[in-house]
Amino acid sequence: MVELNNTDPWETKNRAYICTVTVTKLSASQSWWFQSCSHCHKTTTSYGSGYKCSGHCQTVTTIPKYRLCLIGTDGTGSAEFVLFG
Ligand SMILES: [Zn+2]
Repeated sequence: MVELNNTDPWETKNRAYICTVTVTKLSASQSWWFQSCSHCHKTTTSYGSGYKCSGHCQTVTTIPKYRLCLIGTDGTGSAEFVLFG
């Protein structure tokens, strides 16, 4: 985890990593779901009687999606992970 925490996320944004962690805590301040744009899957917000995409989509069709924020550790450090699905 120490190595992962020391990487620059902007320099390594297209790389994939594998790490094994133990979930130690859930982020209580984060909602477990959100209304997602059915086209680009970004967050939507209420807009009148419908929804507005936080991206640039013209669509207002939404689907609820899970977003689980948790803290994981491997003994060398910890990090927050955001799981979508
Ligand atoms: Zn969208």
